[in-house]
Amino acid sequence: MAKMTDRVLGLASNPQQIRNIAICAHIDHGKTTFSDNLLSGAGMMSEELAGQARQLDFHDDEAQRGITIDSAAVSMVHAVKGKEFLVNLIDTPGHVDFGGDVSRAMRAVDGCIVLVDSVEGIMPQTETVLRQALKERVKPILFINKADRLVKELKLNPAQIQERLTKIIINVNRKIKDIAEERFAEKWCVDFMDGSVCIGSAIHNWALSADFMKERGVNFKNIIDAYESGEYKPLAKLAPLHEVVLNAVVKHHPTPLEAAPYKVPKIWPGDMESPVGKSLATCDPKGPVVFIITKMVIDPQAGEICYGRLFSGTIKKGDQIRLIRAKQDARVQQVFVPNGAKRDIVDAIPAGNICVISGMRGAYPGETVTNEPDMEPFIELLQMFDPVITKAIEAARPSDLPRLVEVLVQVTKEDPSIKIQINQETGEHLMSGMGELHLEIIENRIKTEKHLEIKTSAPVVVYRESIMGKSTDDAEGKSPNKHNRLYFRSEVLKPSIVAAFKEGAIPIGRVKKKTEQDLWAVLEEAGMESKMTRQVRHVFNGNILIDATRGIVQIGEIQELVNDMFEDVMMKGPVAGEPCQNVLVILTDAKLHEDSIHRGPAQMYPAVREGIRAAMKTARPFLLEPVQTLLFEAPEEFMGEISKLVSNKRGQLLDMQQEGTIIQVKARMPVGEMFGLSNQLRSATGGRGSSSVVDQNYERLPEELQAKITNQIRSRKGLKEDVPSED
Ligand code: GDP
Repeated sequence: MAKMTDRVLGLASNPQQIRNIAICAHIDHGKTTFSDNLLSGAGMMSEELAGQARQLDFHDDEAQRGITIDSAAVSMVHAVKGKEFLVNLIDTPGHVDFGGDVSRAMRAVDGCIVLVDSVEGIMPQTETVLRQALKERVKPILFINKADRLVKELKLNPAQIQERLTKIIINVNRKIKDIAEERFAEKWCVDFMDGSVCIGSAIHNWALSADFMKERGVNFKNIIDAYESGEYKPLAKLAPLHEVVLNAVVKHHPTPLEAAPYKVPKIWPGDMESPVGKSLATCDPKGPVVFIITKMVIDPQAGEICYGRLFSGTIKKGDQIRLIRAKQDARVQQVFVPNGAKRDIVDAIPAGNICVISGMRGAYPGETVTNEPDMEPFIELLQMFDPVITKAIEAARPSDLPRLVEVLVQVTKEDPSIKIQINQETGEHLMSGMGELHLEIIENRIKTEKHLEIKTSAPVVVYRESIMGKSTDDAEGKSPNKHNRLYFRSEVLKPSIVAAFKEGAIPIGRVKKKTEQDLWAVLEEAGMESKMTRQVRHVFNGNILIDATRGIVQIGEIQELVNDMFEDVMMKGPVAGEPCQNVLVILTDAKLHEDSIHRGPAQMYPAVREGIRAAMKTARPFLLEPVQTLLFEAPEEFMGEISKLVSNKRGQLLDMQQEGTIIQVKARMPVGEMFGLSNQLRSATGGRGSSSVVDQNYERLPEELQAKITNQIRSRKGLKEDVPSED
């Protein structure tokens, strides 16, 4: 092992010989089998175990359920024509309910292998992962998997095989052209002829690319003959999957040096001409240390283990560094080379690599770790979908409460798509996630891996609040000492701005001098008047705060307090204390006490909160419910059962397709009706049906349910009867 680590380290210092890549796919298209075979080929695990051992699935629940949930990483050495390369690979989950991890992995890599099942073709999730890759400027190559089925099951002849593969390639390229930014759209299309498309069978461990076929004289006829004679095992030696694929990776994926100049400006808002900017763009090992954490695992012994990408400098044991977002200093305890569920300790790693560090107390995924304390952090990692289901969680033994608090912090670090809140009234811990299965997995992990007995409540849906119109008048918020009065209005954001939020185009956070120009430009493009863009002070959870006051001298002094409470109300709206979206809040006027001592947080917070809430109440507030688009897959005989399930749940069938004997049904349903769905689907289809989330939106709750659900939520939260605001 030591020898392997030495080889890795030797290569790690030469960015020309590094490729940082991820593998992504629709669930069940064979990603786990594929990754295992890549690893075994590269000597990381024994050949007999490949395809069974699930080297990268290191949580027990993943092995049991047979799905890849967390992304782990591994560094492998691959030789092309005698020259060695270091391929740092990150695995990503195939279950889109946990899609946040895919975006995070894409932050760390420059290239990805998109896996598509040759029989099923492109699926909605294939498009989702492509979107996530291209957004982080990650260059795709294509692997068309399960080619054995074309020959063995579908019994296609060479012409038919070619036709099918061409169709998949055309479809993938259509998506790339659609989604990618203009400068990459053509350049990043895949092409069988140039070797950026590989075809193979992960399970039988072979693959072909145009380059390999030319070089070794292997062709499709060899494959068909092998399957027809039943002698397909030698294919794994004739055209080894890892060799074909890693050759394609080395040829088509950019080195960190090539990628940094276009990738860094997309994920880092700082000045590329500054010393840090230049070091980031050139992967300078002598520059400042700049590392981004893309994944965390809490190890019982070593504590916070952070996976991520080192974009600049050389990171070594003992380095004093700064966690920029947490505003905290820390010391690098150990540096490791990732090795699946394990990791190997090394002294130092230079820029351009994916690596692992420990000792980062207080860090969360997305954090910028650096010895350049004044630098801008990387832009935040966006969640694909927001959490829609919440459960109250408590320790089975009250004396375990401190341990529960600790474990919940760990859980949100390991899976940032989990949100924890404390109900201020009851003191309960509330855990929110992206679906029932998601929360089940986390609960299970708390019990089996963190060894904590817990009790959880039945799940409830996370609703949202918004407004339909404009406030009828200025709403006043007074400070308790009556020396300060603030006036607010609110109105619903324009659809074009809402759309820009959904695309992730609008930079979020409190507006800062350095980045305000970008924000103005984006908002103007999305249809906001240019004068108004200059007044924006805060962009939070899809809501915008504007300061339209004029000539008020002390306004700057209370801005941060207004921002704080704007956040508070946007997290807990006036209808039922649910998060708000699409709300524009306008501070129209303010009467402030001259002496700052009379306008501290204790005075200003209630004034701002009451003012904004009152402004929203006259703008026709209402509740929205989460609605998910699901894709069901099952053998065709279960079509009837699936449509019954959908119609019983206020659902709507959108599309039905048949591929061979498998049907795919797309349907939309309110999350509020989806409880128990995975179990019901299992029993309705004898365990042969599956479902995955392909899209999620918040939609207006039907009128007849508005009052009922509002009351349910308020009484559950112990909120007072809704007192009219004009008191
Ligand atoms: P993941 O969900 O994307 O990680 O997919 P898995 O690797 O777990 O594979 C899903 C299913 O497809 C499993 O039953 C595999 O045995 C099967 N599979 C994977 N690769 C191939 C292949 O090349 N050919 C065939 N026929 N089946 C495969």
